[in-house]
Parts: sequence; C-alpha cells; structure tokens
Amino acid sequence: MTKIKATNITWHEGHVGREERETLLKQKGAVIWTTGLSGSGKSTIAYTLEHALVQRGHLSYVLDGDNIRHGLNKNLGFSAEDREENIRRLGEVGKLFVDAGIITITAFISPYSKDRDIAREAVGTDSFFEIFCDTPLDVCEERDPKGLYKKARAGEIKGFTGIDDPYEAPSNPEMVIDTSKVSPQDAAVLLCEMLEKAGKIPQLAD
Ligand code: ADP
Repeated sequence: MTKIKATNITWHEGHVGREERETLLKQKGAVIWTTGLSGSGKSTIAYTLEHALVQRGHLSYVLDGDNIRHGLNKNLGFSAEDREENIRRLGEVGKLFVDAGIITITAFISPYSKDRDIAREAVGTDSFFEIFCDTPLDVCEERDPKGLYKKARAGEIKGFTGIDDPYEAPSNPEMVIDTSKVSPQDAAVLLCEMLEKAGKIPQLAD
C-alpha cells in the first residue's frame, strides 16, 4: 500500500481536455500493456507496433521496462515490494500518456496480477489492453537475448521471474500472443486491428 505523504495540494484543471487533444491527434489515448516472461517478445512487439502506428500517422510511444529502470525507477530493485512500486508508477505514467492522447505501449514483465489490475484501474479499463506474451519458457530461455536466464540458472541472479520467482498469467487478457508461433509483424497487425475495433484509431481507407 502506498503511503500518502503529499498534503495541502489542490488538483488544477487545465483549459484543454483529453477529448480536444484526441481530436487534434485523430486518435484516442490507450495503453497496450504487454506482459510475459523475459524474452517473451514484449519489447520487440512494442517497438514493431510503435513503428507500424507511426507509419499510419499515429502518435505512439514505448515505455520499456529496462529503459525506465535507468531513470524514473532507478531506485527500485526486484523485491516484491519494489516490483509493486515499479508497476504502480508505470500505471500512473500510462494514465498521464493516455490523458495526453498518446497510444502508449508498455513492455514490462509485470509478473503479479494484482499490480497489473492496479495499472488497469489507474488508466481506466476502456483504454487498457492487456496483451499476454504467452511464449513457452523453454523458447524464452533458448532466445536468452540478454543472457539473463544463463545467469539465473547459474545462481548469479536471484528472484528471476520464471526461474525462482513466480509469473502470474493474466486470467482475462485482451489478447494472447505466443511469439514462437506469431511474427512481430503479424502481432502488430493484430494489435492495430484490435485498436481499430475499439475505436482508438480509424480504419485504414481502402
Ligand atoms: P522481452 O521484452 O519480453 O524481454 P524481447 O523482445 O527483448 O523480449 O526479446 C525477444 C527476443 O526474441 C528478441 O531477440 C527477438 O528478436 C526474438 N524473437 C524471435 N521471434 C520473435 C517473435 N515472433 N516475436 C517477438 N520476438 C521474437
């Protein structure tokens, strides 16, 4: 539970609202929240989708777990408590980006259902799309893009998700993608279709 330390503060309404920004951008703000094991393809899908959306003329931005831990969250580690605070802050950042009208794609392992639910609540469920990168552990481990599984198996990293720390699979995600079967390009197409159906971006003219 986050301790509230800020007192004597007042919410200030601006003169420009979310709707006006969305009209300007010809899109609606959304968070595409990818979740899954390390190496399951979250970042690859996120950057492929960002590229596809920008090519279609949409403002999109990736919040990548490792990159955020270089700055905003560099004071947080990988204990359950720090992982919770990591995701809480990222949900709040997602909320701000959605209010700005941006199609935001996040790539965080986010292993605990409760924390993802908190992010969903912060953003608003109509604008939150949970995408489960359900790639088998052995495929993720074989890929090992950052050499982390090797280190975790050797005991050099403790509390590694999927090895000696739990991953709680989403029970009701908006989409499940197994990247051992679906290419990043095909995943981006599926996600664009999902955004069209939800009215977040207009359909492409024939
Ligand atoms: P994560 O962000 O989940 O840790 P990454 O996207 O950083 O995962 O790494 C996934 C690795 O798997 C990359 O090296 C990527 O090139 C590779 N890969 C192979 N096939 C796919 C696919 N279909 N979708 C996504 N990544 C894939």
